[in-house]
This record gives sequence, structure tokens and C-alpha cells, in this order.
Amino acid sequence: MAVENVIIIGSGPAGLTAAIYTARADLNPFMIEGYQAGGQLMLTSDVENFPGYPEGVLGPDMMADLRKQAERFGTRYLTKDVTKVDFCRGGVTPPLHVVYVGDEKFQAKAVILSTGASARLIGLPNEKRLMGKGVTTCATCDGAFFRNMEVAVVGGGDSAIEEATFLTRFCTKVTVIHRRDTLRASKIMQDRAHANPKIAFIWDTVVEDVMGEKEVEGLKLKNVKNGETSTLKVAGLFVAIGHDPNTKLFKGQIDMDENGYIKTRDGMKTNVPGVFACGDVQDHVYRQAITAAGSGCEAAMDCERYLEAEAHKGH
Ligand code: NAP
Repeated sequence: MAVENVIIIGSGPAGLTAAIYTARADLNPFMIEGYQAGGQLMLTSDVENFPGYPEGVLGPDMMADLRKQAERFGTRYLTKDVTKVDFCRGGVTPPLHVVYVGDEKFQAKAVILSTGASARLIGLPNEKRLMGKGVTTCATCDGAFFRNMEVAVVGGGDSAIEEATFLTRFCTKVTVIHRRDTLRASKIMQDRAHANPKIAFIWDTVVEDVMGEKEVEGLKLKNVKNGETSTLKVAGLFVAIGHDPNTKLFKGQIDMDENGYIKTRDGMKTNVPGVFACGDVQDHVYRQAITAAGSGCEAAMDCERYLEAEAHKGH
């Protein structure tokens, strides 16, 4: 079986940047991009904060450009989902990692994990339908589109309160809808939000439906304590109920933190030699396309150095 230098799993900005760098280093990377290639940016519309695009760029367009750029230097793609991995954790020389796509089996000297994270959604059909049309999961990305409008944020954790506070820069009113009557967010963030005259709270309430044909026009709400229903007119719904890293596949194979994020250290190295991770799969703090791309570059350079060192050992 042919042995790849490096297999990159996942094709968001982190993985594709790793592909560009490893391809330009003549490592002939093989990317298993997944059926839903491109990551979270495929779900956004305009991206205005990625440096180098003075007029902004559509998320899917940016991903298509990144993919082309990586292809230009020789990246090969497989548009399928990885189904299993078997990382070599010592004892075998040379150390080879195995990646499965159904019955197909691939071997590689190094693997870069860039499977990203997925924002949790409430799970309403209209929430999905209006995604990018008023429903969003990222205030940093989309807040500026709601200038002088009223919006709602769902959630009671640090993300929700941080997003709500950030949104008051643009919006006339931000209503935080929380399913309980106590926030989970840190005290300092809560104090800041309570002191902000643009932020209102609706407690003990869940969103039952998102209204609007072409874009969000309002929400149907239900009080979980007394069962009363109501509507709230808003132009945007920011869902901030947490993210989940896409790491189910790697469970038991690699060190993760208590929330399932891959632990990286000393650059983008994981605890398994020859396995690197970049982007949201190992970052629950910044979660931006630009930071993901930056970490993809780091992972590629760490990978390059690892392969060079292994080659010197005669592997
Ligand atoms: P989180 O702390 O898990 O909070 C999620 C919030 O969403 C909770 O209030 C939860 O309600 C609510 N929620 C969950 N599922 C829901 C559903 N289906 N419907 C309605 N509400 C739902 O997540 P996070 O806020 O994204 O924070 C994740 C981690 O990152 C935390 O450790 C946080 O401290 C950290 N973080 C830190 C900062 C900062 O320090 N600047 C900023 C962002 C995040 P319940 O409270 O009822 O469970």
C-alpha cells in the first residue's frame, strides 16, 4: 500500500492552509475533505474580517479560492468522510498512521486533524432554513449586518453574554433569551450585561419557532414555567448555546480536554508523534477563520519538521 507523507482530515480554513503549506513544501498532501467540505464558513454569507478582502467575501467563495490555491500546488482531495483512524502510538518503526474511509484504507507518516467544531443549534426546522438569512451563530462575523436593528441572542453562558454585549455596538436592542432564570456566564460578564441599557432579558423561555419567509422577522417564544407563548419581533437570531468539537472519530486515540477539544502543545503537536491538530478542533477560545488559518500554517510547519527529523532517522 502506498504511504502518504501527510493526510489532512477536514477542509476548513485550518486544513486548507495546512494543505497549501505542506503542498508548497513538496509533501504532496492528501486531503480527505469530507462530504460537507469547507467547514463552518460554508454556512456564513459575507466575511468582512478576513484580512485581504477590502470589500468582504462570501464564505463559500473564500473556501473555493483556498481549495483552488491548495490544488494548484498539488494537493489531492477525496470528498468523503473519514470513518475510523488508527494512530501509531509507538513501538513500530517507521511509525505509520492509518486512516479509513469505509473499506478504503490509507497509511501516512503524518496526519493533520482539522475537523473543526460545529455550533450547537436549537434544532428548529426554520432555524436551519433561515441560517445566514438572519439566523447566525457568530456575532463577530455577522453582527455588523444588523446595524440599527433589534436582535435576539439565545443562551445564558459566556458566549451568549459576550455576543450580546458585542452586538450592542451595532444594534438598537439585544434581547437575551435564556431557558432558566440564572445565567451561567461569569459574574463580570453578567454585571457588564446588566449594566448595558441596550440589553434586555427574557427568562425561563425557549424559542419555539423562527418566523419569516426570506429572512428572520420574529420569534415564537414559550415560557417554560407557565407555558405562556408570545412573539418577539427581531431581525436577527444569534444562537449561542455552545459549540461541539468534531472529535468523536478520534476518541481514545488522542488526548482531549474535558469538552472533547484536542489538546495541542509546543505549536500544533498532539500527544501522538506525527499527529497534529489545528483550527477549531483544538481552539475553543478564538474560533475565527484567520486564527484557524494561522494554526493550519503552524501545523504544516510542525509536520514538515517532524517528517524531516524522521527522515534523518532513516525512516
Ligand atoms: P456554555 O457555557 O455551555 O453555555 C451554553 C448556554 O446555552 C447555557 O446557558 C445553556 O443553558 C444554554 N443552552 C444549551 N443548550 C440549549 C438549548 N438547546 N436551548 C437553549 N439554551 C441552551 O457554552 P458557551 O457559552 O459557548 O461557553 C463555552 C466555554 O467557553 C465555557 O467554558 C465558557 O466559559 C468559555 N467562554 C469564555 C468566554 C470568555 O471568557 N470571554 C467567552 C465565551 C466562552 P443552561 O445554563 O440552562 O445549561
